[in-house]
Amino acid sequence: MTNHALFQRALPLIPGGVNSPVRAFKSVGGEPFFTARADRAYLWDVEGKRYIDYVGSWGPMVVGHNHPHVRAAVERAIQNGLSFGTPCPAEVAMAETIVRLVPSIDMVRMVNSGTEATMSAIRLARGATGRTKIVKFEGCYHGHGDSFLVKAGSGALTFGVPTSPGVPKANADLTLTLPYNDFQAAQALFAEHGSDIAGLIIEPVAGNMNCIAPKEGYLQGLRELCTRHGTLLIFDEVMTGFRVALGGAQAHYGVTPDLTTFGKIIGGGMPVGAYGGRRDLMEQIAPAGPIYQAGTLSGNPVAMAAGLAMLELVQEPGFYDTLSARTRLLTDGLQAVADGEGIPFSTNRVGGMFGLFFTREKVGSYAQALAADTNMFNRFFHGMLERGVYLAPSAFEAGFLSSAHSDEDIAATLDAARGAMRLAREG
Ligand code: PMP
Repeated sequence: MTNHALFQRALPLIPGGVNSPVRAFKSVGGEPFFTARADRAYLWDVEGKRYIDYVGSWGPMVVGHNHPHVRAAVERAIQNGLSFGTPCPAEVAMAETIVRLVPSIDMVRMVNSGTEATMSAIRLARGATGRTKIVKFEGCYHGHGDSFLVKAGSGALTFGVPTSPGVPKANADLTLTLPYNDFQAAQALFAEHGSDIAGLIIEPVAGNMNCIAPKEGYLQGLRELCTRHGTLLIFDEVMTGFRVALGGAQAHYGVTPDLTTFGKIIGGGMPVGAYGGRRDLMEQIAPAGPIYQAGTLSGNPVAMAAGLAMLELVQEPGFYDTLSARTRLLTDGLQAVADGEGIPFSTNRVGGMFGLFFTREKVGSYAQALAADTNMFNRFFHGMLERGVYLAPSAFEAGFLSSAHSDEDIAATLDAARGAMRLAREG
């Protein structure tokens, strides 16, 4: 079967032919490829074409695809059954590992996706504070819960529906939005609404409007603001957790949130999310406390085995130094190629995540990300794809490196970029 034939089969059966919107290539144009298998830094499509992969299943594959250590852990786990519906030892080991590696977390609850983690975290914030409003940032994405599909990033942004139909107005009205990296705007909002705000949720490094790092002192400022107003600070580390540093963005920037959400990497490629934080808050979750949250498959033994194996690998000495250095090699290399071609281009990077922008400006805000040239990005994307390099199929998604990306892979990527940059310019 060809990619095209599979897509034609999928289109009448699955909305847009895909099970998650950005996969459809709608924003870059063309049709998606269908992956047959993945190993190390590579994907192979059903036609046998190989791609160097900078999406990494949208973040989880930080040690590369099909890592033997993770695969072996899963193979061992499945010998004992796929799901128990009772507690299992691996859940306890997972909680111990997260609590040990992330100092702000005293207790943690496992769920099945990042969306569940963020929905549960704001329910807890509302339940614990007795307040109803939440604050999020324009262009940040926290999964597809009703409260978050308000000026949302990722696919919602790409497809021009940042606030989705189907989200009741009454619900959307409880979500206040702020521009990312604008501290004065946050101060003004809290001056007016502070006593009504249960929680402020933020991607500490934004990765769903391309990749934007917080300004120096910004996260600290938000921490103080939240403390002053009795608002819970929630770091959505679904993307940044175990990606920008071992203890996540909170370790990287030295800021302590009240609650944190995780996903992606902690599942090792299996469907997993988690939320955790201060003990006095987490003890309010059922059955320890009255705030309800549950899941048939939560703490699944196979998913826990994959996640635990992954977390063992990222704790190896120097893991994040090497990952950051490789990421830098890539972004510096792409910058040099663009400069050589006289193309307006800038990059952002934190740890193992990066952003590429067709603009001369250093991008630090949502408005700047929107102002970059998406047509150039789309041509660049297709030029790279043709040359066997798979970037995220949207100008508004972060890119991800893994420890499996070798210097040769990066050199091959830069080679491809030389041709693709010219295509981007010529249009
Ligand atoms: N939060 C962030 C920061 C994310 O990047 C994502 C997904 N990309 C989510 C939440 C939602 O996670 P999931 O897709 O697993 O529901």
